[in-house]
Amino acid sequence: MPAPARKREVGRGERTLPGVWRLRLPLPWPGIPHCNAWAVAAGDGVVLFDTGLHEAGSMAHLERALDMVGLELAHVRLVACTHAHIDHCGQAPAIVERAGCELWMHPAHGHLTRSLDDPEAALARRIEIARSAGVPEEPLRRWAQERSGGDSGVAGELRPDRDLVDGTTIDTDLGAWEVVETPGHAPSHVCFWQPERRLLISGDHLLGRVSLYYDFGYTPDPAGEFLRSLDRVEALGARLCLSGHGRTFTDVAGHIAANRETVGARVAALEQLLRSDGPMTAFEALPRLYDGELTPMSTSWWLGETLCYLRHLEVGGRVESDGASPARWSATSG
Ligand SMILES: [Zn+2]
Ligand SMILES: [Zn+2]
Repeated sequence: MPAPARKREVGRGERTLPGVWRLRLPLPWPGIPHCNAWAVAAGDGVVLFDTGLHEAGSMAHLERALDMVGLELAHVRLVACTHAHIDHCGQAPAIVERAGCELWMHPAHGHLTRSLDDPEAALARRIEIARSAGVPEEPLRRWAQERSGGDSGVAGELRPDRDLVDGTTIDTDLGAWEVVETPGHAPSHVCFWQPERRLLISGDHLLGRVSLYYDFGYTPDPAGEFLRSLDRVEALGARLCLSGHGRTFTDVAGHIAANRETVGARVAALEQLLRSDGPMTAFEALPRLYDGELTPMSTSWWLGETLCYLRHLEVGGRVESDGASPARWSATSG
């Protein structure tokens, strides 16, 4: 049965606060219909936090969203990205070229830029990770075929002019925004914190609903890094969160607690499963841990998450792998 035609969204802009505009930009992904870029007044222009993904027509969506709030690309004085995922930085090369401004990002953007430099090698690496996690050969081959040669979602070469690290500040009319490094979702993730107004631009670190994703294979323990980043952001005491997808929200502490509880519950369920029914591969664990159909997209998402929880448990000495390919995991006696 053919999928029902989705009504494509268009870019929309709206004022969130005096001097802060939400630019809601469409995404071509099922289940994730749009992302947010945030424009913040800065002198005679704006700082643009995040950019949306690049594809045919995407710049027109951004320009439409800007136009709805009386802005244009020429007003952008700086592009600062929360992290190197294509929905947050994909249009950056085109915007900085059009606006003649700088691009600032966290230096650990290699998880994206290395794959842009050599997409076939990056795909081969993902296939190898999936194979050693126990994904059978045939669906893996089909998935690889679908991925090969697709659009990158990025408008050109990502060449940041400055590193966004702890201590970096960005001046705006609302005051200076401090960079808070928040790895976990991605190694390059930062949040932007405006302490006088207690505003947080949170990217994908905190969203209106709990939606966990980690880049697997670039850092020792992405889930552990994410939990430590939650602690860091909790200590800030934000009163309003401007997130990378969806609406703004005020109960920031409640959202942090919900993320922490969900991670804790999933890690505990995985350990319990390996303790009762292990050893098993990560792929074999998926239908036991998640409700829902194993499609190529859900498998890829859940497998990455499960591999990160296995790493987290392994770092804590709670599980171990037999080191084979595919690797089978079991709980330790500890
Ligand atoms: Zn992301
Ligand atoms: Zn995102």
